[in-house]
Amino acid sequence: MPDPKPDNFVSRNLPATIFANGFAFCFPHGQEWCHLCCVDHRLTNNVIMEDDLTPEQHEEVQDGGGDDRPSVSIYGKFQVLPDDRISCTIHEVVGCKFCFDFPKIVLRSIQSEKTWVSKRSSYLSN
Ligand SMILES: [Zn+2]
Ligand SMILES: [Zn+2]
Repeated sequence: MPDPKPDNFVSRNLPATIFANGFAFCFPHGQEWCHLCCVDHRLTNNVIMEDDLTPEQHEEVQDGGGDDRPSVSIYGKFQVLPDDRISCTIHEVVGCKFCFDFPKIVLRSIQSEKTWVSKRSSYLSN
């Protein structure tokens, strides 16, 4: 496993943003794409994880909408440490490779969206 990226901190400049393994989320809601904060971090997060994806996975992200893919949330899964670093709540680990394994989490969210869409279209065709 590569070392966790150093980017695990909260930026309190508005709009307040948290970074977990380099992935950006709005601070109040832990969302990549948040209509309340009017932010969309999916484009930058796609760039962040690009190096970690195989060509097949990259294609899967593009098929799943690319910069318009399902938004990932870490609401309730992170906590802010006294030094403003971010750790997961389950393991209390900064840069947790399980909770903050975003390439995997993004691919999983795309796959579950796909399952849902194909289920829905099979309902509609019946
Ligand atoms: Zn928000
Ligand atoms: Zn964890």
